[in-house]
Amino acid sequence: MFDHPDFDGHEGVHLFSDAKSGLKAVIAVHNTARGPAAGGTRLWSYADPKDAVTDALRLSKAMSYKNAMADLSLGGGKAVILRPDTEFDRQALFEAYGRAVEAVGGNYITAEDVGVSPDDMRIIKTQTDYVAGLDDGPAASGDPSPVTAEGVFRSIKVAVRHAMGRDSLVGLRVAVQGLGHVGYGLCEHLHGAGVHLIVTDINKAVLDRAKVQLEAKVVKPDEIHAVEADVFAPCALGGSISEITLPDIKAVVIAGAANNQLSTPEMGEACRRRGILYAPDYVVNAGGIINVAAEVSGSYDPKWVKEKLEGLENTLENVFRLAAKKDLPTNLMADKLARERLGLSA
Ligand code: NAD
Repeated sequence: MFDHPDFDGHEGVHLFSDAKSGLKAVIAVHNTARGPAAGGTRLWSYADPKDAVTDALRLSKAMSYKNAMADLSLGGGKAVILRPDTEFDRQALFEAYGRAVEAVGGNYITAEDVGVSPDDMRIIKTQTDYVAGLDDGPAASGDPSPVTAEGVFRSIKVAVRHAMGRDSLVGLRVAVQGLGHVGYGLCEHLHGAGVHLIVTDINKAVLDRAKVQLEAKVVKPDEIHAVEADVFAPCALGGSISEITLPDIKAVVIAGAANNQLSTPEMGEACRRRGILYAPDYVVNAGGIINVAAEVSGSYDPKWVKEKLEGLENTLENVFRLAAKKDLPTNLMADKLARERLGLSA
């Protein structure tokens, strides 16, 4: 573990198994300097269990950066559950997982991530109080996706102002990859702001809806990055900015919800060389964890959430300004600021 290429002084990496339910899970706590580690739980089929450990290490570190940049009193953690190969009892699996979260003793607070829903959070809650993203209860914050979508929308406006010198989005073309919980909500904001949408997904039903409701132009999944657009918004899975896709990207701004959009950190510099302003993903997509933080605080206050989203805009503006001043790619500038806030060496 200590020699793992993605190990970054993580405070704890916990492995859990439960033969009866089939649970196999990794809970990674990266850093708790700012508070208990918070981050979602992902349920995913991994070709190799080692990939689950790698995912937990990388994602928990990104959560430390995200929470620090959003100025939350939370550290960074993330968990992955290895999806059982055979049919499984979801109730039993998430009960066993809830006991695992409880065993970490409050150093880690969970919420939803890919493959996991508020219903699963309700099952976890039967075993531990270290869970958020619930849709009922005194401070329940519910599905974080709409707040994430609003944060991405605000970030696109900041990035467009910075890269194109314009405040209005009217008439701009935005290419959105992935119309899921966040992507579709983002498209609704953009449509309302007078944007021409170009969209893709692997789910035909959602594309049909976007055509009718949002006047969106639909393209194939492998074409979206290359369309004529001003902004490219990756809102599906990670890795969409790579050596293969970047040469075809025509947008001057990249800002979207997906985690780990750059296939490697070097792609940040590659974007810069092509004159593309990359808005660091973990700054842009912090709306969801801001919403979760409101619940963790014990009393959900929508005004506080709104102020934090405004703060996210200022943070992104600051990253762009400092990156230009220090002649750094925006992703490395954001990493540097995050590590400073965490008291970690560069
Ligand atoms: P989701 O599962 O609801 O949506 C993902 C969408 O992408 C789905 O509609 C899926 O069909 C589509 N998709 C999958 N592969 C695709 C491909 N190759 N091409 C085009 N579309 C494809 O997930 P979500 O909650 O909307 O999250 C989207 C991204 O944002 C994820 O990377 C997630 O980690 C990140 N994120 C989400 C939140 C949140 O609040 N939900 C917060 C922070 C980050």
